[in-house]
Amino acid sequence: MLEVKRADFPVLVNNEKMIYMDSAATSLKPQIVIDKINEYYTKYGVNIHRGVYDLSSKATDEYEELRTVVAKFINCKPREVVYTKGTTNGLNMLAQILKANIHEGDEIIVSQLDHHSLVMPWQNVAKEKGAKLVFIELNEKNQITIENFKKVLTKKTKIVNLTYVSNVLGVVAPVKEITKLAHEIGAIVICDGAQAVPHMKVDVQDLDVDFLAFSGHKMLGPTGCGILYGKYDLLNSLEPEEFGGDMNDGVEMYDSTFKDAPEKFEAGTPNIAGLIALKPAIEYLSKLGMENVHNHSLSLAKYVVENIKNNDMIELYTKEPESGIVTFNIKGIHPHDTATFLAAQNICVRAGHHCAQLITHHLGCMGTVRASFYIYNTIEEAQALVAAINGACEYFKEWII
Ligand code: PLP
Repeated sequence: MLEVKRADFPVLVNNEKMIYMDSAATSLKPQIVIDKINEYYTKYGVNIHRGVYDLSSKATDEYEELRTVVAKFINCKPREVVYTKGTTNGLNMLAQILKANIHEGDEIIVSQLDHHSLVMPWQNVAKEKGAKLVFIELNEKNQITIENFKKVLTKKTKIVNLTYVSNVLGVVAPVKEITKLAHEIGAIVICDGAQAVPHMKVDVQDLDVDFLAFSGHKMLGPTGCGILYGKYDLLNSLEPEEFGGDMNDGVEMYDSTFKDAPEKFEAGTPNIAGLIALKPAIEYLSKLGMENVHNHSLSLAKYVVENIKNNDMIELYTKEPESGIVTFNIKGIHPHDTATFLAAQNICVRAGHHCAQLITHHLGCMGTVRASFYIYNTIEEAQALVAAINGACEYFKEWII
């Protein structure tokens, strides 16, 4: 088990009884991240890249340093790191900048595990370009398999979208193997790392994906900041989709030129404080070790599953945890009612479709209850969750017709 101090997380200190199991939605922030935001605004809170005075250079250095920290964390080059507002922003940007390469009849692979922010931008591109969305069939455990991927990969495939870790079921896609197959026919691979990068070691060179998007706020960092990784030559060959300050090289009356990547994809004043404060968040995780982070959350998920799987009032969707996510329903009970019962016991979980309605429909339910664990959760909290779920089953017994 990881040794993480509850005292590091002010929200936990200020809500002493709270058991927070909604980290897949957003993680809590350690004091050092909050301190860094405060440091920026109080000590050198000016704009970046624009001023020639000392404070602007200081802000710029702090801001630019994040590229090196991220590059080390995911094993890429600093100039392959594009700053975004988050995964949604990164994935939408990709669909826009890649759509020039999509033509009528082309195929774009997605799956029912994908978050709305991955599948919806490509639905729009497919409609606009007369291309086709093709869904990888999930196996009986709702996983993506190489076998099923091979069935949809054709010479027409231009883009392969992969959710590395599902935010609903926690299943992990075989990204490396699929990327290899996709590259054999020249397709571009986009990986949604929103639930992967905060929780496990992700090495983009080893995976060989072309693009990877993730959010700062799910990995101890501030909201409104994220990262889009792209292989440099490919990234730099693409045209920007947003125009304005800082991304241009020169502007004439009827035409403009752009800087190279990553700057050409970073128009306007960014979330400077947020991006600067993402550094201590990544350093906090690196210090713990991503293998330890993964094992910790996984062991809590396994404990919970082991202890509720024989309760026949429970429909368990995460039968064999692969990450720190456990998803279930109490049969016949609306997930919001179950989550409200748990909330009354200070247990914060998420209920609903989790912005991934395709998988909810596939599961044949209106929504699910999701407990998602992170570094600050403990075995005692997992035990409290099991006890509360059992209590909920007792309570709701009479409701079920
Ligand atoms: N992709 C997955 C798998 C997610 O879980 C989420 C958020 O829950 C997103 C994308 C979107 O992330 P954000 O809301 O930070 O842009």
